[in-house]
Amino acid sequence: MRILVTNDDGIRAPGVQALAQKMSKLGEVALIAPLEEKSAIGHGITIRDPICVHKINIEGVSQAWGVKGTPADCVKLGLTELFTEKCDLVISGINNGPNLGTDVLYSGTVSAAIEGVILGVPSLAISLAAWNYEDYSVAADIIYTLIKYMIKNKFKLPVGTLLNVNVPAVNKKDIVGYKVTILGAREYENRFEKRFDPRGNPYYWAVGEILPFKERDLDFDVVAVEKNYVSITPIQFDLTNYKIMQEIKQWGLEDL
Ligand code: MN
Repeated sequence: MRILVTNDDGIRAPGVQALAQKMSKLGEVALIAPLEEKSAIGHGITIRDPICVHKINIEGVSQAWGVKGTPADCVKLGLTELFTEKCDLVISGINNGPNLGTDVLYSGTVSAAIEGVILGVPSLAISLAAWNYEDYSVAADIIYTLIKYMIKNKFKLPVGTLLNVNVPAVNKKDIVGYKVTILGAREYENRFEKRFDPRGNPYYWAVGEILPFKERDLDFDVVAVEKNYVSITPIQFDLTNYKIMQEIKQWGLEDL
């Protein structure tokens, strides 16, 4: 089994190194990750600048490249130029912080996994649902087990679908179980602090806190993780709303 590991926190982040080391027990791993942190970069790619790559030594990982680019660049370049034989799995994480609900649209972690499925490789995005929690070993163990189940079930996922996994940041004994979930909503205060630079020009800094999610149903990823379940959401990059297509066709647009 050949596995491409990436993230958006940068190649030096403990989460991606713990993941790559754990995945090395399952097969041949290539760790291909941004040289700098790219959290909240979404699905951005680099098209106007050179994408420099640096071979890096990481303990317990057979091959690693730091990429001066985005998480999506890492997967694209990785599968095309650096790790070119058949790749069986792209896995992005373990992110420092949750990727739940609408936040998946901003997430570099999730976007890297989306890039994997765009290129036809089964993909997972993995996040640890607390910031600056130091122990990634529980999340790494859970992902290891999940992949064993994926192998047993022959990675059966529809084309264009990936799994977005969020692991609660607690001891293993406090994890209640897992839930297959729906994306919830992440609402923020959307507050910006206005400041002034030394020349008197204003600039803004996003400071809004997360607002509590009103739904309490465990079917939502946000709630499942709050209640110490591992949340597994199958997501797809096809954003088409099929249900409304027929209705729009009936608007009489022939007259345009
Ligand atoms: Mn991140």
